[in-house]
Amino acid sequence: MLVVGAGLAGLWTATELAWRGHDVVLADRRTRLDTTVRTTGIFVRRTLEDFDLPPEHLGPPIRRMVLYPPSHRDPVTLDSRHDEFRVGDMAALYLELAARAAVAGVRLELGTRYLGSRGDVHQLHGPGGPVEARATFVVGADGARSAVARELGLDRNRELLVGAEEVFEVPPSGRRPDTVPAFHCVLDPRLAPGYLAWVLDDGQHAHVGVAGYPDRYPHGLRDALRRFAATAPGLAGVPVPDAVERRAGPIPVGGLLRRVAGPRGLLVGDAAGAVSPLTAGGLDPCLRLSAHAADVLDRALRTGDRRELAAYDGAALRARFRGRLTMRRGLSLVRTPAVAAASVAALRTPPGRAAARRILFGHGSFPDPAPVSPKIALAAQARQV
Ligand SMILES: Cc1cc2nc3c(=O)[nH]c(=O)nc-3n(C[C@H](O)[C@H](O)[C@H](O)COP(=O)(O)OP(=O)(O)OC[C@H]3O[C@@H](n4cnc5c(N)ncnc54)[C@H](O)[C@@H]3O)c2cc1C
Repeated sequence: MLVVGAGLAGLWTATELAWRGHDVVLADRRTRLDTTVRTTGIFVRRTLEDFDLPPEHLGPPIRRMVLYPPSHRDPVTLDSRHDEFRVGDMAALYLELAARAAVAGVRLELGTRYLGSRGDVHQLHGPGGPVEARATFVVGADGARSAVARELGLDRNRELLVGAEEVFEVPPSGRRPDTVPAFHCVLDPRLAPGYLAWVLDDGQHAHVGVAGYPDRYPHGLRDALRRFAATAPGLAGVPVPDAVERRAGPIPVGGLLRRVAGPRGLLVGDAAGAVSPLTAGGLDPCLRLSAHAADVLDRALRTGDRRELAAYDGAALRARFRGRLTMRRGLSLVRTPAVAAASVAALRTPPGRAAARRILFGHGSFPDPAPVSPKIALAAQARQV
């Protein structure tokens, strides 16, 4: 097996396959996994319940969500009885998952770029120059603009947002004692056209970000982030250090792609469009789809029958979140501050609040592709370690 891309999707898929006894090479063009992080790293309750992520690399729980109109006045506050979100220390998480992968027997090749495939032979460019790798199947875990999807003739993401954020540590002295960890979201098409601007403060770190359709940023994403950071809600009195970590990347929001597998391999994570089209959350979908991909590949390798990959059917899964795709189209139509203000006003009504709670605290962001219990599978792995 060749898995291209050691983000969350690639690490998870490679590890699951190696535990099942397969020979797995995991290649990533990055030379280190703890640099160029491209995600805020918010894990939702459903992921925390189902997947065995190392708790020491997860921030404090967040139960409060606050939704603002463009004026930031009279926001809608939603409090949950549950711990809804935790923000991962993604650099540490990637390293921990890479260590688990190594224990499982995955061969991790960093500084190694996938170039293309001819049949079972795959061209890579590693630290020592060009190399060819022979693999029965290739897994494209190589992100939103997947080269593996192109090479295998599979579907490719067409609808992409771009997102950028600044991250900084908040010293305990820098906050008011009554501050509650919270996820603040602003609906303002001037700053986040087709999506949201956010401030997430979990009591340890603050993340300030914007995302939207790239062609709707007349002055660029950076300019919008700078303007938002100057007035971002939820950070009153919090000192912003001179040096902040900057993260940015594309987010596919067109929904899970239909053709995500062929006889030579398949796609997982962002490469497969496995992102909730409405919330733009990709970490939960990427883990669920990776677990399913490992099941399907395992069967194909054991039986020697490439037709097993037909069970990995994006079109069937996509049909199960049609509602979210419709809501994405609705969000993309919010083009003026007046419409944004009216949308937030609708969320102040009892039915609006109930709908917001269902979407933001519910379990429906991505359909469960397979009847497996990943936490059980991973707990078994942990015992073997
Ligand atoms: C700013 C931002 C904030 C976000 N915040 C959240 C959030 O808080 N919660 C959430 O659920 N989702 C969030 N998302 C979405 C989420 O981060 C992604 O859906 C998820 O990380 C996708 O993981 P992945 O493994 O599929 O892809 P990636 O993490 O993009 O990994 C792809 C890997 O492939 C490698 N690669 C690419 N091309 C090649 C090649 N040719 N050869 C070798 N290697 C290659 C890359 O180096 C990379 O390591 C956010 C996205 C952005 C951009």
